[in-house]
Amino acid sequence: MSEAPARPSTKQSVAAASREAFAAWIDEAPEGRVFGQVLIRRTSEGGYSLRQRDDAGAAKLVVNEEPREAREISKLTEWGEYRPLKSSPNLRRGWELHVKDARGLAVAMNYLYPAAQVHWYLYREGSLEVTSYRENAARQSGIYKRIQRLSDEGVQNAARACCEDVVCLKKALWNVDEGTPLAMDRGDGEIPCPEPCSVFVSFARRVRLFEREDRRDLDEIGLSPSEKEDLAALVEAASAGNVEYAREAEFEEPLNERRLRYRRLTLLPKLRSGRGPAGRPRD
Ligand code: SF4
Repeated sequence: MSEAPARPSTKQSVAAASREAFAAWIDEAPEGRVFGQVLIRRTSEGGYSLRQRDDAGAAKLVVNEEPREAREISKLTEWGEYRPLKSSPNLRRGWELHVKDARGLAVAMNYLYPAAQVHWYLYREGSLEVTSYRENAARQSGIYKRIQRLSDEGVQNAARACCEDVVCLKKALWNVDEGTPLAMDRGDGEIPCPEPCSVFVSFARRVRLFEREDRRDLDEIGLSPSEKEDLAALVEAASAGNVEYAREAEFEEPLNERRLRYRRLTLLPKLRSGRGPAGRPRD
């Protein structure tokens, strides 16, 4: 009987084991694998080819053989905007990376999706540690301490607005707390998300500010000042034929995509119900 392989015990051995497991996972798929937005294929020379998945059949790509080039590739969107969240589905196109082995592949993947390869491996092994929102919030300090007060409903809406596949390709594994699962589509991607990230924490802080708007500030149809600000900005931009999202992590801006997704969940029902702050139908 053969012995079971020893379980890696140090950070270094987990990195090595994940590197090998990831390469083997690619090797066993003749058509290649999609990880996030990256299509990875084994080459006839024994290395790996990486490109944006929408470029699967593209012939004219800028080819590079330095795995560290992935850092530049992942930095900006197609439109030149900084990408604060590498798992956002806005990886630019037009490039191809040729790396010579599993080590080069790991270096490139770590720039494209930091820590994702190790998380993917630990999740498959059943040993990925998951941290709930409440545990994460309890560790926050300074201006982020206030996210400890975000209601469960606020966390749920923030997660739907911030973490679904249309805005983030990771599969959220974390919950509000031990007894309160996230009630959302967690995503189909290969990259697990074991803990609320810094972008989510920043968004949760903004949602908490929305929650804190005093009921006395509501107008006769029950809109808060920030809801009115967002609606006005949206109408103004739409009427000028110029609805452009603010930058990805600028949650203080009314036309931020995640902020608008949150409004879809919380403001639209209010507008459609036609009820004022006291819950009375309007005249
Ligand atoms: S917390 Fe949400 S937005 Fe952040 S990486 Fe995880 S799934 Fe994506």
